[in-house]
Amino acid sequence: MLIMSPALVEIDDLEIQIIIDNELDPLSQPAPDTVHLVGGSMGLIALSTSPSLQPGERGGAVKELRMEDICCSAHGLSIMITATKGGTKRSVLFDTGPEEQTWERNVNRLKADISKIDLIVLSHWHRDHSGGMLKAIDMINKAKQPCSDGKKVVVDVHPCRPDFRGFLLGDKIVSLEADPSFEEITDHGAVLTKHDETHAILDDMFLISGEIPRETSYENGVKFGMRFDQSENEWISDEKIADERFLMCNLKDKGIVLFTGCSHAGVVNASRYARKLLDDDDHRSNMPFHAIVGGYHLATSNDVKNIDATVHDLKALDPAIMLAGHCTGWRAKFCIEREMPGSLVPCAVGMRYKF
Ligand SMILES: [Zn+2]
Ligand SMILES: [Zn+2]
Repeated sequence: MLIMSPALVEIDDLEIQIIIDNELDPLSQPAPDTVHLVGGSMGLIALSTSPSLQPGERGGAVKELRMEDICCSAHGLSIMITATKGGTKRSVLFDTGPEEQTWERNVNRLKADISKIDLIVLSHWHRDHSGGMLKAIDMINKAKQPCSDGKKVVVDVHPCRPDFRGFLLGDKIVSLEADPSFEEITDHGAVLTKHDETHAILDDMFLISGEIPRETSYENGVKFGMRFDQSENEWISDEKIADERFLMCNLKDKGIVLFTGCSHAGVVNASRYARKLLDDDDHRSNMPFHAIVGGYHLATSNDVKNIDATVHDLKALDPAIMLAGHCTGWRAKFCIEREMPGSLVPCAVGMRYKF
């Protein structure tokens, strides 16, 4: 396959804030020499967001920690990512979680500055990634109003939106809720762009992939996945989830940081393809791997051999940070910690990390 590599500039700094993930853990600190925790832990919440007590009011205590300032987890993923190059900062919202209430509640609890989000990228059409999108568009555009000269948030999606996605449960078909439609996205005031090819965004600080080549023998998509075709009124098998795309950037002195939504294409396939996109002129993959952030989709892997094979091949890429979240599952996280000690960082909701 001939790969056209669009420009991707090297960025100076990278920060993420996890707005939605399956995991909540405001107590655990990240492993040393991985990321810097700059927000979201119980201590940082107490210091930064709770009201101060009056001197002498409660025996010298200075702060009251409010439990309502702690985020709630949900089955899905939404990460705000901010890259800096020189004096320029650009922010992306990578996925929007499963439903609107959680997105709104967590953004409010985090007091996240969503006015700086330039673009929402949807990794793939699955409701646990798209469900909060319309609320996110409303809130981001409202937050932008005072300072953006009427500039609206851009939404970047794959053009092939299924009417519905679902799966087979024994001999029964279970449908997911519909993803937001193209009309709803524009009606809510976003600028809609559709891409099925690799392209750079936001001053070339980020790259969004096209279709991810499926090459490993053990990464086979979503078993029993289905899609509904409204015009034919029929459900058809859709295990590949071919519309899944990843987001990546190139961090100065560190290398590739990959953001993957669900890894239905396989996290090894995605990682290898990310590196391939940055091949040098001699088609050599010299770019170091720094971090793999998001869902690795190993929670439903019935065969432990698949987890072992995945972690074995990820280890060969030598990433410094395994920021495994969403659909990764505890078995795979245990395996990562055992085989790649010191690299695992929980993608826990509310956490703000600098790379
Ligand atoms: Zn998915
Ligand atoms: Zn998912």
